[in-house]
Amino acid sequence: MDLGISALNYVSGIKNNEFTVEEFISKSLERINEVDKNLHAFLRINDFAIKNAKQIDSKIKSNQNVGRCYGMPISVKDNICIEGSKTTCASKVLENFIAPHTSTVVSRLHSEDSIIIGKTNMDEFAMGLSTEFSAYGPSKNPWNTDCVPGGSSGGSGVSVAANECIASLGSDTGGSIRNPASFCSVVGLKPTYGLVSRYGLVSYANSIEQIGPMTKTVEDSAFLLNIISGIDPNDNTTLDNKNQDYLSDIDSGISGKKIGIVGEMTNSDGLSTDVLNATNDATKTFEKLGANCEQVSLQMVPYTVAAYYTITSTEAGSNLARYDNVRYGYDLDSSGFEFNSYISQARSKFGPEVIRRMILGGFVPSAGHAGKYFLKALKVKSKLITEIKHVFEKFDFLISPTVPIQPFKFGEKINDPVSFMMVDINTVTANLTGIPAISVPYKITNGLPIGIQIMANHLEENSLLQAAYALEKTVDLPEVSI
Ligand code: GLN
Repeated sequence: MDLGISALNYVSGIKNNEFTVEEFISKSLERINEVDKNLHAFLRINDFAIKNAKQIDSKIKSNQNVGRCYGMPISVKDNICIEGSKTTCASKVLENFIAPHTSTVVSRLHSEDSIIIGKTNMDEFAMGLSTEFSAYGPSKNPWNTDCVPGGSSGGSGVSVAANECIASLGSDTGGSIRNPASFCSVVGLKPTYGLVSRYGLVSYANSIEQIGPMTKTVEDSAFLLNIISGIDPNDNTTLDNKNQDYLSDIDSGISGKKIGIVGEMTNSDGLSTDVLNATNDATKTFEKLGANCEQVSLQMVPYTVAAYYTITSTEAGSNLARYDNVRYGYDLDSSGFEFNSYISQARSKFGPEVIRRMILGGFVPSAGHAGKYFLKALKVKSKLITEIKHVFEKFDFLISPTVPIQPFKFGEKINDPVSFMMVDINTVTANLTGIPAISVPYKITNGLPIGIQIMANHLEENSLLQAAYALEKTVDLPEVSI
């Protein structure tokens, strides 16, 4: 049995009686047992996976209605809640937190008979880009275990790349789906803001984040988007996509489409030559596929990282105030503490990166400083939105490298926060403007992956997936050999 098959091939395998759900789930669990000691993609495994598999097998055998996922194993980032099970956000602060409700995305996966095989590792509260900020130790890149897998949804990326499951759900506030997708050589989609419900996602920066799929193929991302997207009464920011089918015309091609190569994302400081070469190569490929490619400038891009961290830290500062051990927290005996010292003791369990964001998030919007920082960041955001609107009058898609560099070694960047944050230069634009963006695996150079990012206008997921599918069809990448 091939654990590396796509979601669509899994479904046809079940329908053709090539294997049962139980057989596939048992093999996936064996695989996790074998490789995850080293890779650490998972923080927890679902103890009921085999029981769930048996139930779905018996539904199949007795010809009952079975959901579109047919028991496929899907992993979920550990900031997405499932009622009755732990959701830690890879933080010691939520070490014992049992979610009181199930997120809409997981409810939708459950109702389509998928099996949530486990919860994946991440940077604490989704702050980071390497999983080095997980309070439970980092995940490792299956292409080279000396390297980071990207983040913050690093565990999700690893779980899919290493064939521990069929697909995963991550969250993307500033690249956290696309960055690990690029570093692990899987497909990662950040949908339009509001296309996917955030109900049950532990908030980091509510105004810009989205949940999205991380998959082995572009078709699989369309398949999962069909399931998780659409209006949700529990999240008032959701949009009605009228049950659009993102899969049906995915092979329409991109002939005649106009593609802009974003200058500021292909000449930034620190862009690696290999990544630039891969991007130039992808541009030629798009032209061969019949698209017209042209350089385009988005002048606000050099300011986006600063604006992004200013806005997200401000939102994070207020979101994280609830972890005071009164409303949310861990077991900490209050005897011997007065009120303030108890709360400071409780909050001392946050990791250093989260603390840095909270300090920043308290400072930048404060009286006397807001004009210089927070309001300025909002101006960058609104100017960027104007620029984006303008370029999409002319172009169908924008492209860039997903990340300016390839996966780096553990410890290599973490001590230089500013250059670390600059790794987000190409991904945060989609979040600040709310547009959809996808990372497609494009090359393996020096044994490490490079992903290409494609961005489209609001709610243009359909054509975005068509472009990604067309690009994907031109590449033939090796399997990871772990
Ligand atoms: N690196 C970004 C940050 O730390 C991305 C996080 C994300 O998308 N969740 O904020």
